[in-house]
Amino acid sequence: MTNKKVSAKGEMADKARFGPAGTPINFKGPSEEAPSFIGKLGLDLMEYQAVRNVNISDQKSIEIGVNAEESGVWMTLHAPYYINLTSRRQDVIRKSVYWLLKAAKVAQNMKATHVVFHPGYYSGRGKELDLKNLRKGLSKVIDLMMANGIKKPVLSPETTGRRSQIGTLEELLNICQGLGSRVALTVDFAHLHARSGGKIRFKDDYLKIMNKIEGELGKEALDNLHIHFTEVVWSEHGEKYHVELGTNRGPPFKPLAELIAELGLRPTIVSESPLLDLDAIKMKKIYFSQLRSLGSRRNLHGKCDT
Ligand SMILES: [Zn+2]
Repeated sequence: MTNKKVSAKGEMADKARFGPAGTPINFKGPSEEAPSFIGKLGLDLMEYQAVRNVNISDQKSIEIGVNAEESGVWMTLHAPYYINLTSRRQDVIRKSVYWLLKAAKVAQNMKATHVVFHPGYYSGRGKELDLKNLRKGLSKVIDLMMANGIKKPVLSPETTGRRSQIGTLEELLNICQGLGSRVALTVDFAHLHARSGGKIRFKDDYLKIMNKIEGELGKEALDNLHIHFTEVVWSEHGEKYHVELGTNRGPPFKPLAELIAELGLRPTIVSESPLLDLDAIKMKKIYFSQLRSLGSRRNLHGKCDT
Protein backbone atom coordinates (compact mmCIF):
# COMPACT_ATOMS: atom_id res chain seq x y z
CA MET A 1 0.00 0.00 0.00
CA THR A 2 2.96 2.37 0.26
CA ASN A 3 3.78 2.37 -3.45
CA LYS A 4 3.00 5.65 -5.11
CA LYS A 5 1.02 5.41 -8.30
CA VAL A 6 0.76 8.08 -10.92
CA SER A 7 -2.55 8.66 -12.64
CA ALA A 8 -3.92 11.18 -15.08
CA LYS A 9 -4.55 13.42 -12.07
CA GLY A 10 -0.92 13.25 -10.92
CA GLU A 11 0.05 11.51 -7.75
CA MET A 12 -2.60 9.24 -6.28
CA ALA A 13 -2.91 9.00 -2.53
CA ASP A 14 -1.36 5.86 -1.04
CA LYS A 15 -3.54 5.91 2.09
CA ALA A 16 -5.95 8.17 3.96
CA ARG A 17 -3.91 11.16 5.11
CA PHE A 18 -4.65 13.64 7.90
CA GLY A 19 -3.21 17.04 8.77
CA PRO A 20 -3.93 20.64 9.75
CA ALA A 21 -4.94 23.71 7.74
CA GLY A 22 -1.79 25.73 8.37
CA THR A 23 0.87 25.32 11.01
CA PRO A 24 0.06 23.30 14.15
CA ILE A 25 -1.30 25.31 17.07
CA ASN A 26 1.69 24.63 19.32
CA PHE A 27 4.28 25.20 16.59
CA LYS A 28 6.39 28.32 17.01
CA GLY A 29 9.15 27.92 14.37
CA PRO A 30 9.46 29.12 10.75
CA SER A 31 6.85 27.67 8.41
CA GLU A 32 9.47 25.75 6.39
CA GLU A 33 9.94 23.54 9.46
CA ALA A 34 6.23 22.94 10.07
CA PRO A 35 6.00 19.71 7.99
CA SER A 36 8.59 17.86 10.13
CA PHE A 37 6.73 18.99 13.28
CA ILE A 38 3.54 17.59 11.72
CA GLY A 39 5.31 14.32 10.86
CA LYS A 40 6.46 13.96 14.46
CA LEU A 41 2.84 14.32 15.61
CA GLY A 42 2.03 11.20 13.57
CA LEU A 43 0.22 13.21 10.87
CA ASP A 44 1.01 13.11 7.15
CA LEU A 45 -0.60 16.14 5.47
CA MET A 46 -0.44 19.94 5.66
CA GLU A 47 -2.48 22.55 3.81
CA TYR A 48 -0.37 25.69 3.49
CA GLN A 49 -2.53 28.79 4.04
CA ALA A 50 -1.91 31.37 1.33
CA VAL A 51 -5.39 32.74 2.04
CA ARG A 52 -4.34 36.39 2.57
CA ASN A 53 -1.52 36.51 0.01
CA VAL A 54 0.92 34.35 -1.94
CA ASN A 55 3.98 36.40 -1.08
CA ILE A 56 6.29 33.55 -0.18
CA SER A 57 9.75 33.38 -1.74
CA ASP A 58 10.75 30.57 -4.12
CA GLN A 59 13.47 29.52 -1.70
CA LYS A 60 11.13 29.25 1.28
CA SER A 61 8.44 27.38 -0.65
CA ILE A 62 11.04 24.94 -2.03
CA GLU A 63 12.35 24.39 1.53
CA ILE A 64 8.83 23.58 2.71
CA GLY A 65 8.56 20.98 -0.09
CA VAL A 66 11.90 19.38 0.84
CA ASN A 67 11.03 19.32 4.54
CA ALA A 68 7.61 17.82 3.76
CA GLU A 69 9.05 15.10 1.52
CA GLU A 70 11.67 14.14 4.12
CA SER A 71 8.94 13.95 6.76
CA GLY A 72 6.50 11.84 4.73
CA VAL A 73 4.03 14.75 4.77
CA TRP A 74 2.02 15.61 1.66
CA MET A 75 1.38 19.29 0.95
CA THR A 76 -1.67 21.07 -0.42
CA LEU A 77 -2.14 24.84 -0.66
CA HIS A 78 -5.15 27.10 -0.04
CA ALA A 79 -5.15 30.05 -2.45
CA PRO A 80 -6.37 33.58 -1.48
CA TYR A 81 -9.96 34.11 -0.34
CA TYR A 82 -10.34 37.18 -2.58
CA ILE A 83 -10.19 35.16 -5.82
CA ASN A 84 -13.41 35.77 -7.74
CA LEU A 85 -13.60 34.25 -11.21
CA THR A 86 -17.27 35.17 -11.63
CA SER A 87 -16.96 38.91 -10.98
CA ARG A 88 -18.72 41.45 -13.21
CA ARG A 89 -15.40 43.30 -13.31
CA GLN A 90 -12.84 42.13 -15.89
CA ASP A 91 -9.94 43.50 -13.82
CA VAL A 92 -11.02 41.32 -10.85
CA ILE A 93 -11.14 38.26 -13.12
CA ARG A 94 -7.72 39.10 -14.59
CA LYS A 95 -6.24 39.47 -11.10
CA SER A 96 -7.92 36.25 -9.94
CA VAL A 97 -6.33 34.34 -12.83
CA TYR A 98 -2.95 35.84 -11.88
CA TRP A 99 -3.35 34.96 -8.16
CA LEU A 100 -4.33 31.39 -8.97
CA LEU A 101 -1.36 31.03 -11.31
CA LYS A 102 0.94 32.45 -8.62
CA ALA A 103 -0.56 30.05 -6.04
CA ALA A 104 0.02 27.15 -8.48
CA LYS A 105 3.70 28.16 -8.89
CA VAL A 106 4.20 28.22 -5.12
CA ALA A 107 2.33 24.91 -4.81
CA GLN A 108 4.63 23.35 -7.41
CA ASN A 109 7.66 24.54 -5.38
CA MET A 110 6.16 22.84 -2.33
CA LYS A 111 5.40 19.69 -4.36
CA ALA A 112 1.80 20.22 -3.31
CA THR A 113 -0.93 18.08 -4.89
CA HIS A 114 -3.87 20.56 -4.77
CA VAL A 115 -4.40 24.32 -5.11
CA VAL A 116 -7.67 24.80 -3.22
CA PHE A 117 -9.73 27.93 -3.87
CA HIS A 118 -13.21 29.40 -3.51
CA PRO A 119 -14.39 30.05 -7.08
CA GLY A 120 -16.30 33.32 -6.59
CA TYR A 121 -19.68 34.93 -5.91
CA TYR A 122 -22.97 34.87 -7.78
CA SER A 123 -22.86 37.98 -9.94
CA GLY A 124 -26.63 38.40 -10.18
CA ARG A 125 -26.55 37.73 -13.93
CA GLY A 126 -27.70 34.11 -13.70
CA LYS A 127 -25.93 30.94 -12.71
CA GLU A 128 -25.34 29.76 -16.28
CA LEU A 129 -23.26 32.81 -17.10
CA ASP A 130 -21.36 32.56 -13.81
CA LEU A 131 -20.49 28.92 -14.46
CA LYS A 132 -19.46 29.76 -18.03
CA ASN A 133 -17.16 32.53 -16.76
CA LEU A 134 -15.74 30.24 -14.09
CA ARG A 135 -14.97 27.60 -16.71
CA LYS A 136 -13.38 30.23 -18.94
CA GLY A 137 -11.22 31.61 -16.11
CA LEU A 138 -10.04 28.17 -15.07
CA SER A 139 -9.20 27.21 -18.66
CA LYS A 140 -7.07 30.34 -18.84
CA VAL A 141 -5.23 29.40 -15.62
CA ILE A 142 -4.68 25.85 -16.92
CA ASP A 143 -3.22 27.20 -20.20
CA LEU A 144 -0.91 29.52 -18.27
CA MET A 145 0.15 26.69 -15.95
CA MET A 146 1.07 24.56 -18.98
CA ALA A 147 2.94 27.46 -20.59
CA ASN A 148 4.88 27.94 -17.35
CA GLY A 149 5.72 24.25 -16.94
CA ILE A 150 3.53 23.84 -13.85
CA LYS A 151 2.52 20.20 -14.03
CA LYS A 152 1.94 18.79 -10.61
CA PRO A 153 -0.76 20.55 -8.61
CA VAL A 154 -4.36 20.27 -9.70
CA LEU A 155 -6.71 23.25 -9.36
CA SER A 156 -9.23 22.31 -6.73
CA PRO A 157 -12.45 24.34 -6.40
CA GLU A 158 -13.95 23.94 -2.94
CA THR A 159 -17.60 23.52 -2.00
CA THR A 160 -18.32 26.83 -0.26
CA GLY A 161 -20.14 27.64 2.95
CA ARG A 162 -22.14 30.77 2.23
CA ARG A 163 -25.19 31.00 0.02
CA SER A 164 -23.77 34.08 -1.73
CA GLN A 165 -20.83 32.03 -3.01
CA ILE A 166 -20.63 29.84 -6.12
CA GLY A 167 -19.79 26.33 -4.96
CA THR A 168 -22.63 23.91 -4.34
CA LEU A 169 -21.65 20.29 -4.91
CA GLU A 170 -23.70 20.19 -8.13
CA GLU A 171 -22.09 23.35 -9.54
CA LEU A 172 -18.59 22.11 -8.86
CA LEU A 173 -19.26 18.62 -10.22
CA ASN A 174 -20.37 20.35 -13.40
CA ILE A 175 -17.17 22.47 -13.48
CA CYS A 176 -14.82 19.57 -12.70
CA GLN A 177 -16.43 17.37 -15.31
CA GLY A 178 -15.89 19.90 -18.05
CA LEU A 179 -12.22 20.63 -17.33
CA GLY A 180 -10.57 17.21 -17.25
CA SER A 181 -7.55 16.05 -15.33
CA ARG A 182 -6.11 19.44 -14.28
CA VAL A 183 -9.06 20.11 -11.99
CA ALA A 184 -10.16 18.05 -8.96
CA LEU A 185 -12.89 18.68 -6.42
CA THR A 186 -12.37 19.69 -2.78
CA VAL A 187 -15.31 18.69 -0.61
CA ASP A 188 -15.71 20.79 2.52
CA PHE A 189 -18.30 18.83 4.47
CA ALA A 190 -18.81 21.62 7.02
CA HIS A 191 -19.71 23.95 4.15
CA LEU A 192 -22.16 21.44 2.64
CA HIS A 193 -23.64 20.96 6.11
CA ALA A 194 -23.99 24.71 6.74
CA ARG A 195 -25.51 25.48 3.33
CA SER A 196 -28.04 22.69 3.67
CA GLY A 197 -29.12 23.86 7.13
CA GLY A 198 -27.51 20.93 8.95
CA LYS A 199 -28.53 18.01 6.73
CA ILE A 200 -25.41 15.86 7.12
CA ARG A 201 -26.19 13.61 10.07
CA PHE A 202 -25.80 9.95 9.22
CA LYS A 203 -23.61 7.64 7.15
CA ASP A 204 -26.28 7.55 4.48
CA ASP A 205 -26.06 11.34 4.07
CA TYR A 206 -22.34 10.99 3.32
CA LEU A 207 -23.00 8.02 1.06
CA LYS A 208 -25.39 10.07 -1.09
CA ILE A 209 -22.66 12.70 -1.56
CA MET A 210 -20.03 10.04 -2.37
CA ASN A 211 -22.36 8.36 -4.88
CA LYS A 212 -22.96 11.68 -6.62
CA ILE A 213 -19.22 12.31 -6.88
CA GLU A 214 -18.51 8.83 -8.20
CA GLY A 215 -21.43 9.06 -10.63
CA GLU A 216 -20.23 12.36 -12.11
CA LEU A 217 -16.44 12.14 -11.82
CA GLY A 218 -15.68 8.42 -11.55
CA LYS A 219 -14.18 6.08 -9.00
CA GLU A 220 -10.64 7.45 -9.16
CA ALA A 221 -11.87 10.94 -8.22
CA LEU A 222 -13.79 9.52 -5.27
CA ASP A 223 -10.88 7.32 -4.14
CA ASN A 224 -8.52 10.33 -4.08
CA LEU A 225 -10.88 12.98 -2.78
CA HIS A 226 -9.51 16.10 -1.08
CA ILE A 227 -11.57 16.83 2.03
CA HIS A 228 -11.88 19.74 4.46
CA PHE A 229 -13.41 18.86 7.79
CA THR A 230 -14.53 20.66 10.96
CA GLU A 231 -17.74 20.96 12.93
CA VAL A 232 -19.53 24.22 12.21
CA VAL A 233 -22.08 26.75 13.46
CA TRP A 234 -24.33 28.19 10.74
CA SER A 235 -27.21 30.59 10.12
CA GLU A 236 -29.71 30.94 7.27
CA HIS A 237 -26.90 32.53 5.18
CA GLY A 238 -24.62 29.54 5.70
CA GLU A 239 -21.42 29.06 7.64
CA LYS A 240 -20.79 31.28 10.70
CA TYR A 241 -17.75 29.80 12.42
CA HIS A 242 -15.86 26.55 12.94
CA VAL A 243 -16.00 24.63 16.20
CA GLU A 244 -13.97 21.73 17.50
CA LEU A 245 -14.82 18.07 17.00
CA GLY A 246 -17.29 16.56 19.45
CA THR A 247 -19.43 19.67 20.02
CA ASN A 248 -22.37 17.90 18.32
CA ARG A 249 -22.96 20.82 15.96
CA GLY A 250 -22.14 18.50 13.08
CA PRO A 251 -21.33 17.29 10.66
CA PRO A 252 -20.34 14.18 12.64
CA PHE A 253 -16.93 12.73 11.75
CA LYS A 254 -17.46 9.12 12.82
CA PRO A 255 -19.93 8.08 10.09
CA LEU A 256 -17.65 9.65 7.47
CA ALA A 257 -14.66 7.71 8.86
CA GLU A 258 -16.73 4.53 8.80
CA LEU A 259 -17.63 5.07 5.16
CA ILE A 260 -14.05 5.89 4.14
CA ALA A 261 -12.92 2.63 5.80
CA GLU A 262 -15.73 0.56 4.24
CA LEU A 263 -15.22 1.92 0.73
CA GLY A 264 -11.41 1.71 1.03
CA LEU A 265 -11.00 5.38 0.04
CA ARG A 266 -7.63 7.18 0.35
CA PRO A 267 -8.62 10.83 0.83
CA THR A 268 -6.44 13.68 2.00
CA ILE A 269 -8.32 15.13 4.99
CA VAL A 270 -7.52 18.64 6.23
CA SER A 271 -8.65 19.56 9.73
CA GLU A 272 -10.06 23.09 9.75
CA SER A 273 -11.27 22.91 13.33
CA PRO A 274 -10.02 25.60 15.75
CA LEU A 275 -7.87 22.81 17.23
CA LEU A 276 -6.26 22.09 13.82
CA ASP A 277 -3.65 19.34 14.32
CA LEU A 278 -5.15 18.18 17.63
CA ASP A 279 -8.44 17.43 15.90
CA ALA A 280 -6.56 15.96 12.90
CA ILE A 281 -5.06 13.45 15.35
CA LYS A 282 -8.53 12.79 16.75
CA MET A 283 -9.90 12.20 13.22
CA LYS A 284 -7.04 9.83 12.42
CA LYS A 285 -7.74 7.85 15.61
CA ILE A 286 -11.46 7.63 14.84
CA TYR A 287 -10.64 6.46 11.29
CA PHE A 288 -8.23 3.78 12.55
CA SER A 289 -10.73 2.52 15.09
CA GLN A 290 -13.26 2.22 12.23
CA LEU A 291 -10.69 0.30 10.17
CA ARG A 292 -10.07 -2.08 13.08
CA SER A 293 -13.73 -2.72 13.75
CA LEU A 294 -14.31 -3.26 10.01
CA GLY A 295 -11.41 -5.74 10.02
CA SER A 296 -12.88 -7.70 12.90
CA ARG A 297 -16.36 -7.64 11.32
CA ARG A 298 -14.90 -8.99 8.07
CA ASN A 299 -12.93 -11.65 9.99
CA LEU A 300 -16.13 -12.75 11.65
CA HIS A 301 -17.66 -13.21 8.23
CA GLY A 302 -14.62 -15.13 7.02
CA LYS A 303 -13.52 -12.70 4.30
CA CYS A 304 -10.54 -10.94 5.77
CA ASP A 305 -8.83 -8.46 3.47
CA THR A 306 -5.07 -8.77 3.33
ZN1 LIG B 1 -11.56 27.10 1.90
